[in-house]
Amino acid sequence: MGDFPDRFPNPVSLTHEAATLARVIGVDSPRDAEEPLSPLADLLIEQMGGIAERSLFFHPDAVAEWLFRKYPDYFLPVLRHAPMARPYATVMPSVTPVCFATMYSGAAPAVHGIREYRKPILTVDTLFDRMLEKGLRVANVASAGCSMAMIFADRKMDAFVTEDDADSFRVALALLEEDRYDHISVYFGEYDSIMHARGTEACESLAKLEEHFRHFDLLARKARTLWQGKRHLITVQTDHGVHDQADGRGAHGTDLTADLNVLHFYGAYPN
Ligand SMILES: [Zn+2]
Repeated sequence: MGDFPDRFPNPVSLTHEAATLARVIGVDSPRDAEEPLSPLADLLIEQMGGIAERSLFFHPDAVAEWLFRKYPDYFLPVLRHAPMARPYATVMPSVTPVCFATMYSGAAPAVHGIREYRKPILTVDTLFDRMLEKGLRVANVASAGCSMAMIFADRKMDAFVTEDDADSFRVALALLEEDRYDHISVYFGEYDSIMHARGTEACESLAKLEEHFRHFDLLARKARTLWQGKRHLITVQTDHGVHDQADGRGAHGTDLTADLNVLHFYGAYPN
């Protein structure tokens, strides 16, 4: 992304998102979460006419903010269902387990304890724990070996560990149709995998990004159809951005603004 620099890091840290979404879902903040973005939480609640009764969080890996600005048409399915965009700076090091641990705990890496590319069980309090304590029925859909599957593996929620993103899509669609869950998190990691090998803007990489959002479109359409009559929240939340290395491969983990700057998207629907 040499010709498309992000000059400034986004001012608001990802550490503020967990408490914000906790308020929107009507659960307590995770214990170590930094303070919520109250105006955003209030607006989402206002748009729903109350706290969310159902929620779908979609997590495509490594979707940098600059990808939105350079390829806005790819994001039209995102805007269809989650039109409110919010910039965040993710945390350092900008790698998957560290960033998802922050996204769900609201805590900085020094506090939540995952400070490098490792995938231990996350031991601090998280949004998942607050949802479970409230009695919400929670599903987490992610492929085997990925951070989202591993760092929450001990939680007493229904974990669906899949073969790949296509399998995650099919499982998540089936779960929505069954309507057994109040909350579903879905992780897709294949844009990240391909761009590491081929570069952030290689045809194969961008085709995978487009596929991710096509699958999100179908999941969100299904959710919005089935959840009519319930206040519901649909989000698209990536973990970190991405940049190209001199060898043409994609990478992240640094404090380049290309790695830190992300946009998260929210759609809030009344009953
Ligand atoms: Zn990642």
